Amino acid sequence: MSIVYIVSAPSGSGKSTLVTKLFETVRQLDFSISYTTRRPRGSEQSGKEYFFVSKPEFETMIAAHEFLEHAEVFGNYYGTARRFLRQAESHGNDLLLDIDVQGASQIKGKIPQAVSIFILPPDREKLEWRLRNRGLDSDEVIRRRLDTARREIENYEKYDYILVNNLLQQSADELKDIVLAERLLRSGAKPTPEEARRIKTAQACRLEQARERVQPILASFNPQEVK
Ligand code: ADP
Ligand code: 5GP
Repeated sequence: MSIVYIVSAPSGSGKSTLVTKLFETVRQLDFSISYTTRRPRGSEQSGKEYFFVSKPEFETMIAAHEFLEHAEVFGNYYGTARRFLRQAESHGNDLLLDIDVQGASQIKGKIPQAVSIFILPPDREKLEWRLRNRGLDSDEVIRRRLDTARREIENYEKYDYILVNNLLQQSADELKDIVLAERLLRSGAKPTPEEARRIKTAQACRLEQARERVQPILASFNPQEVK
């Protein structure tokens, strides 16, 4: 059976950068291209980053039960089509969903064995810097994204793995280790020394091990709580 990986992150944490790197190195992994009613940004093309559809088209798909999950994010609809999971299964591939916290909860409700990964920025200041440096958003949008980030981060306990994206290459390696370690653990095969190392790195990112690392990040988004 295919493994479903869910990746969520506050906007600007580096999720797209890390997911792109993951697909460069991991085979037999499909990306679920979501449907959305938001307008394309920059060079985005329908069928690549997203399928861009109208609100009535999206609502027709909801009525036809074509979505595994769907949610409203920043005033637009976003949804994961069931057919991507069917396709991945028929090809013997795993599937990665890049979805928000609401979508992640819905998927976990339907597919409890899905692997959920939450990517965090090192702190609020670095997140703001990355959003500004990316150069895609106005000051007003950045303020809104930072506010949303604070609320999203509070959901970190719903995820299996926490990945703090500080040094890019290290985070990319950790994401790959999590994905491959889950495959190894589910295969039941005896790990080689290299595979055992991967499993150890992945274990260090599990929620239970990561709580202490998350506290200062949360505090940086709630300055009044810093002691
Ligand atoms: P997201 O998909 O989470 O919104 P992006 O992948 O677009 O975020 O990354 C936001 C910005 O931060 C981009 O300009 C990206 O190049 C940069 N970035 C990503 N990861 C890191 C990192 N570890 N260190 C510094 N900059 C990073
Ligand atoms: P953006 O518009 O910046 O590409 O994405 C905004 C948010 O919507 C991100 O958190 C992204 O993960 C989330 N998102 C993208 N596709 C889906 C989807 O199919 N379902 C849900 N629930 N969220 C999605």
